[in-house]
Amino acid sequence: MNKAITRFAPSPNGLLHVGHAFSALFSARLAQDLGGTFLLRIEDIDTTRTRREFVRGIFDDLQWLGLRWPRPVRFQSRHMDAYCKALKTLHGMGLLYPCTCTRKRLRETVSHLAGHSADPDGAPLYPGLCRPRDEKGHTGQTPCRHHGIEPGKPLPPAWRLDMDKALALASRKLGGDIAWRELGHGPGGETGTIHADPARWGDVILGRRDIGVSYHVAVVIDDALQGVTHVTRGQDLFHATAIHRLLQVLLELPQPAYVHHRLITDAEGRKLSKSLNNAVPATAGLPATTLKALREAGMTAAQLRALLGFATER
Ligand code: GLU
Ligand code: ZN
Repeated sequence: MNKAITRFAPSPNGLLHVGHAFSALFSARLAQDLGGTFLLRIEDIDTTRTRREFVRGIFDDLQWLGLRWPRPVRFQSRHMDAYCKALKTLHGMGLLYPCTCTRKRLRETVSHLAGHSADPDGAPLYPGLCRPRDEKGHTGQTPCRHHGIEPGKPLPPAWRLDMDKALALASRKLGGDIAWRELGHGPGGETGTIHADPARWGDVILGRRDIGVSYHVAVVIDDALQGVTHVTRGQDLFHATAIHRLLQVLLELPQPAYVHHRLITDAEGRKLSKSLNNAVPATAGLPATTLKALREAGMTAAQLRALLGFATER
């Protein structure tokens, strides 16, 4: 049996809040319980939103919480080539096509389609405008020609997964349905063997126009490269796991177990958002508060750990 490896993988586009603290403590605790290793990974491929002070903040906050992790820490922005290689592999398998639809065009098209379905996040499914009509598909372009926006160059296309083709190939490879092992719980209490239904997401974007790759690609490549055995994260990513499993099958990557955990919500039961909160100390809406604000308001890490149910060092 491989040694257990868990990870906390924040995106440095805001200050960490109490929900992140819960997620990080959850991941570290699981590693500890399994006698394994807890990793920190910085998911900073989105250069349009990443800020250096938020990276600093992540290190400060997690250290303050008392967490430790091996170095060097993997920064996704330094590994764009690995994600591009995966995109090129999928492209070589005939599973990607370029899409130049603007948001406006998509909005207008979808508004004409009565009863058009939405993905699990509530966004309308891609109506297939750029999907190749024949087997020859498209010619002449490849993903990752350049990363994102370069002055004087036209914006590259997005690259979408041809979901029908991808599912057909995956079921040939697997000889069965795509599933994952859920050791935690989905938002509807789902646990155990989960039947993955990636088709609910339609032709998802795997290569973003602005930054070249997408979260879905980077996360499966890194979880595989880093030998992550237990993917711990919030229930907001439960349904996206279907896409991740599909990519793992197509790219022949190992299959981790998934451990989705509850989201810490604010007083009104809303999902916490990093950008939502400005230093509101302990008196109001605690979970929506940044860790930095709590620290500056005098809260100790031990107090916060206790509040979140991680009081005892085991
Ligand atoms: N970077 C993602 C986020 O901050 C988490 C990715 C994951 O845990 O799979 O939402
Ligand atoms: Zn398109």
